[in-house]
Amino acid sequence: MEKIQMTTPLVEMDGDEMTRILWQMIKDELIHPFIDLKAEYYDLGLEHRNETNDQVTIDSAEATKKYGVAVKCATITPNAARMEEYDLKEMWKSPNGTIRAILDGTVFRAPIIVKGIEPCVRNWKKPITIARHAYGDVYKASEMIVDGPGKVELVYTKEDGSEVRELIHNFTGAGVVQGQHNLDNSIESFARSCFSYALDVKQDLWFATKDTISKKYDHTFKDIFQEIFDKEFKAQFDAAGIEYFYTLIDDAVARVMKSEGGFIWACKNYDGDVMSDMLSSAFGSLAMMTSVLVSPHGYFEYEAAHGTVQRHYYKHLKGEQTSTNSVATIFAWSGALRKRGELDGITELMTFADNLEKACIETIESGKMTGDLARITSIEHPTTLGSQEFIQAIRATLESYYA
Ligand code: NAP
Ligand code: MG
Repeated sequence: MEKIQMTTPLVEMDGDEMTRILWQMIKDELIHPFIDLKAEYYDLGLEHRNETNDQVTIDSAEATKKYGVAVKCATITPNAARMEEYDLKEMWKSPNGTIRAILDGTVFRAPIIVKGIEPCVRNWKKPITIARHAYGDVYKASEMIVDGPGKVELVYTKEDGSEVRELIHNFTGAGVVQGQHNLDNSIESFARSCFSYALDVKQDLWFATKDTISKKYDHTFKDIFQEIFDKEFKAQFDAAGIEYFYTLIDDAVARVMKSEGGFIWACKNYDGDVMSDMLSSAFGSLAMMTSVLVSPHGYFEYEAAHGTVQRHYYKHLKGEQTSTNSVATIFAWSGALRKRGELDGITELMTFADNLEKACIETIESGKMTGDLARITSIEHPTTLGSQEFIQAIRATLESYYA
């Protein structure tokens, strides 16, 4: 077959450990043989981040702003142990945090569904995508221990020196108190990212808070979403035949359980933290979860939701056989290539992305899979393949489509 041509480069962000090994295998077996890959390469491996004083992370995010689409490998977020292991100059910040701050984005996480890896919730037939607001609330709260009787108030001192006060509680004994905040700007960005993404994937958007109890704080979230929807997105949603739907968080939880899936669930920061772990474990495996950062300005960065799979990497270094699941990382590539194809009007590239995903799913459904899936599948007598063998099996399936 003739290789598919690209016009605009993808921003490629390489990473660490086992996922870095998979990254190279994926390119060698599943990308290069089919596509004349145009990519601007950034090495976000920890050694190179350290050498460049983390400038490479910033450069890769800036390149994403320039070209619009990036694909990222999992990276190490350094901690004390990594400082020693890699002899780091500094405990560099999480690359994902740095990139998110520069692109001002929201992260959408969706499970990859295959027959034989059934969700715990029987009626879930289609993926449920979680969008988590990544700023403020309890994650940026101030707290106090109240050790005895006394009055606690919220005080807002305006720039002109005037004050607004609100009584929190007249304590008659010991207790605790907490102050949270959020920003209209941040909530607006979050709302725009959610509406844009829903249009992009043509799925309904659900949003839920506790506005009946939190009549100012949560109600502001609800109002900002509604205002932006009515002003900027309603007509587009109507044209796409999708719906925006607001409800109370407890009602949302009940409805999610009874639903078939196939929608995006926008969550406030805390709700998103809790619900995304619930959904990923209920859908089967972190290794089958994709993640995309969408900025309100229309930049996209695709990755896997899991980390660098350190334990498997140490086995690999010892020369032992590994069986690491590459599906979420392959879907990061297919997501980025599809988006590039869409933006540049290259149909072959979009079709290739569809075929690549189909090849992963069909390979697993034919009983060939990695150890993590073999342990939980309902398929009888699955064949457990090594990391590379699994990627080669996907290549064989993919080649059969182009034969
Ligand atoms: P992890 O890499 O997600 O792996 C945790 C465990 O989950 C693995 O030991 C493995 O279980 C299983 N697992 C995850 N992905 C798998 C896959 N693709 N195939 C098969 N099994 C898989 O999390 P971690 O070990 O806590 O973190 C390792 C490093 O990743 C850390 O340095 C962390 O900073 C980084 N991290 C990066 C990102 C990111 O870049 N987005 C996200 C999270 C963590 P078994 O060992 O039982 O097989
Ligand atoms: Mg969590």
